[in-house]
Amino acid sequence: MTTTPETHVRPTAPDIPGSGIELVPDMPICQTDLPLDWYQEEFKPYAEEYLALPDRLPETVLPWMDAYVRPALAAFGDRIMLLAHYYMGGEIVKLVERYGGHVADSYQLALQTQRRPEVKIFVESAVHFMAEAIAILAAPDQDVWITNPKSGCTMEMMAKDHMVEPVFDDLYRRYGDDLLVVAYMNTSGRVKALAGRTGGSVCTSSNAAKVVAWALAQQKKVFFVPDRHLGEVVAGWCHVAPDALFQWSGGLTGAAETIAGLSAAERARLDRAQMVLWGGFCGVHTVFTPEHVQYWRERGYRVLVHPECPKVVVDAADGAGSTSYLWKAMTDAKPGDKLAIATEGHFVRNARDQGALRGVEVVNVADVPRDGFAGMGCGCATMSRNDPPHLVAILDLLRKGTPPDLNRVLPGDVVNEISGTRERLPAEERAVIVRDARRALERMIAITER
Ligand code: SF4
Repeated sequence: MTTTPETHVRPTAPDIPGSGIELVPDMPICQTDLPLDWYQEEFKPYAEEYLALPDRLPETVLPWMDAYVRPALAAFGDRIMLLAHYYMGGEIVKLVERYGGHVADSYQLALQTQRRPEVKIFVESAVHFMAEAIAILAAPDQDVWITNPKSGCTMEMMAKDHMVEPVFDDLYRRYGDDLLVVAYMNTSGRVKALAGRTGGSVCTSSNAAKVVAWALAQQKKVFFVPDRHLGEVVAGWCHVAPDALFQWSGGLTGAAETIAGLSAAERARLDRAQMVLWGGFCGVHTVFTPEHVQYWRERGYRVLVHPECPKVVVDAADGAGSTSYLWKAMTDAKPGDKLAIATEGHFVRNARDQGALRGVEVVNVADVPRDGFAGMGCGCATMSRNDPPHLVAILDLLRKGTPPDLNRVLPGDVVNEISGTRERLPAEERAVIVRDARRALERMIAITER
């Protein structure tokens, strides 16, 4: 039995297909409660109420949320938009859509400020780089708020601007304007701005092949930041030979490497390389192996993977693509179809639940029974820090006119993902980040939409 239609308070945006996720009465709303001291001070009263609820079932949680969320949505009307990423824990995906919000991949999320000039307040339940990309493309009268400022992306944290820029400077001294930066969406606004300054572009997993092909067509050496696996996969799709890739280290190790520190043979290889790959990765997507893929294929499953997985996994699979591609594969499947999906664990769990309603069996590729143990697939722990009390608190405080500045996302902010605090740039420096990062984002949009 599904919830009644009146639970959906607004229509879905026409450019974002609804996830199709339905709340059912006995479906648990929340997978794990956060400890009270994980909430910022202003949110603790809401968290205390939530933690005191007797269970996490919709029948209990939804009336508590409605008491706060509905007045906030009514107060702002069409001027507010709730957004979430597919990787959010199932409860937030379901709740955001229930309250008329939208669930999408990072490309679609980034487009919303430009597509919806009437919306002045965007409330995002996902990780910081996604909210910052929305803020970069926002008009001056549009504000972006994140429900939990401690939600960072570990891949983005391996490629902070203070790590990438010294390496870029070193490469630029050698290759000058022949060097072009392609920044994956999973980067800060500052790294996106670096891409913009070089005439480069942002990309997402849904358009990376198009963007890299565009960059290579200009005969440029592409500095691809930060995901080494996506870089390798896309290089393969763009017919770049493996020996035309140069692997730089990631994180602080990469920041400390220099061209002068390379051997003569390595320098010669760097000179020949068409792509230099920063050595970042996503721990969630690197648990998968070709053996996992083989296990499910032998049992009649179609195996689909995200291109942040290692290239050997992508090569072994039946298909690879973005979160939107993977979700569509589930919604397009016919009853009786069997899909094994390799990506973030909450996404696969949501796909499994929704597939079951359609008669489609969905499993996590990493869930290969071994020594009596299954369930190696994991969720994005940082994204899951957005839970019902965070959504309720920010909406209620926005309605009251007292939202914490901690949750306001401005381009160029440097976020401490442990404390949730942020350092802001002075307005004139922020304007430079916006100008350059926007160039890189708009170039991606132009390449993608043409
Ligand atoms: S799943 Fe990985 S890449 Fe995606 S937001 Fe989480 S840590 Fe970052």
